[in-house]
Amino acid sequence: MAGYDYDLFVIGGGSGGVRAARVTAGLGKKVGIAEESRFGGTCVVRGCVPKKLYVYASQYSEHFEDAAGYGWTVPEVSFDWRKLVDAKEREITRLEAIYKSGVEKAGGTTFNSRARLVDRHTVFLEAENRTVTAETILIAVGGHTNPHASLPGHEHCIFSTQAFDLPELPKAIVIAGGGYIAVEFANIFHGLGVETTMVYRGKEILGRFDMDMRAGLHQAMEKKGIRILCQTIFERIDRRPDARLDAVLSNGETVTADQVMLALGRIPNTDRLGLEAAGVKTGPVGEIEVDAYMRTSVDNIFAVGDVTNRVQLTPVAIHEAMCFVDTVFRNRPTAPDHDCIPTAVFSQPEIGTVGLSEDEAIQRFETVDVYRAAFRPMRNILAGRDEKMIMKLVVDNDTGVVLGAHVLGPDAGEMAQLLGISLKAGLTKHDFDRTMALHPTAAEELVTMYQPSYTVRNGARV
Ligand SMILES: Cc1cc2nc3c(=O)[nH]c(=O)nc-3n(C[C@H](O)[C@H](O)[C@H](O)COP(=O)(O)OP(=O)(O)OC[C@H]3O[C@@H](n4cnc5c(N)ncnc54)[C@H](O)[C@@H]3O)c2cc1C
Repeated sequence: MAGYDYDLFVIGGGSGGVRAARVTAGLGKKVGIAEESRFGGTCVVRGCVPKKLYVYASQYSEHFEDAAGYGWTVPEVSFDWRKLVDAKEREITRLEAIYKSGVEKAGGTTFNSRARLVDRHTVFLEAENRTVTAETILIAVGGHTNPHASLPGHEHCIFSTQAFDLPELPKAIVIAGGGYIAVEFANIFHGLGVETTMVYRGKEILGRFDMDMRAGLHQAMEKKGIRILCQTIFERIDRRPDARLDAVLSNGETVTADQVMLALGRIPNTDRLGLEAAGVKTGPVGEIEVDAYMRTSVDNIFAVGDVTNRVQLTPVAIHEAMCFVDTVFRNRPTAPDHDCIPTAVFSQPEIGTVGLSEDEAIQRFETVDVYRAAFRPMRNILAGRDEKMIMKLVVDNDTGVVLGAHVLGPDAGEMAQLLGISLKAGLTKHDFDRTMALHPTAAEELVTMYQPSYTVRNGARV
């Protein structure tokens, strides 16, 4: 360690930082980690975890409706927003303690402090007003919501972080954005009984997903009563005398709501981090530039997770942290593998997806077979719910390898996790065909689509 206070000092106690600190401390190294807010980071405190809890809460309105078709008499229901917020808070407080104590039990030292670099081996801890030194430094500071400061009236808007803790449930909300966070919050608020409008500048929501999933979800959301205005942007947000907000839109319309939420992407937390002092280079949006092993332009400083602005997902930040530990502390240089990442949109219905979309596949492969099924899942039949499930496999005609698998419907996220194993293993459509169906499930459709629905050769359907 050559006279340093720590073998490793981690800045940022979120998914990536905590994992790297805990595992490295477990190897017997001297580790310190600083977190300026709450241990657990975005995922635990203001991202995946509270989001999924709110998704569950919002699904009950449909469960109550559907129960009647199965013989239940459901008494008049009511919802208490405060109770949900308090329950969520108890759960994230529990998780926060687990994250912090996990590092400490492994032998690491935790600091509740903002930290910044002073030079390539020195970190200043603001809350303690002192510096510490480390042989290796890991930056895992994540990102924050894009404030959209150029929008007149942006100061009246909320972001996903505030949406979890609103003092009361709004009667109406307008959400700007078409990414998964905007879509998920639109479904959450709608499910909780809020009049919900989405405003998105693109042609169709969820840009990077398969077109069938995007269109299918759009249709299902509108059928439920969520308004989706595409190719539309906010011109300004005005506060009205009655304290409500007017969102003035580019299509000439004004939508009045109690809250306006912006979900327009995330920006790396690299401001005032001392990167210049240490010589760490950043890219166009402030992201830290790293090589294949997550080494920055300074060879003892590494960066993982959202701050590198590559794939902004918790399991990716954790995977990168594990690769970092292997590379630096286990003498096993390991580059993270960003290929074929399963992902979900926890909308209603849900999207689960892994691999290439149809459009991506036809760009890269000469002949692509598409297997597609659209059907009403069994659980919707007695419920009287007229909502279709869509399943789709995208297959390279030449080798039979399944390039992409896409599901829209109940439990799609759970299916995508398991489909991820098959696609990562490079399995072929033949492997899917020789897998016995599990009946009666919705997922059995994935192994019983024997004939292609259509084939695309050189970009044209044949
Ligand atoms: C609303 C929402 C929903 C999401 N849903 C999902 C999902 O369903 N699935 C999924 O996989 N991902 C989801 N994500 C993304 C996921 O949360 C992130 O990809 C993940 O948390 C990134 O981990 P990280 O370690 O890079 O950063 P973070 O978890 O953001 O941790 C960074 C930490 O660093 C701290 N910090 C910042 N600057 C400093 C400093 N100077 N000194 C000390 N501490 C500092 C921050 O307070 C923060 O705690 C969601 C994100 C949001 C916002």
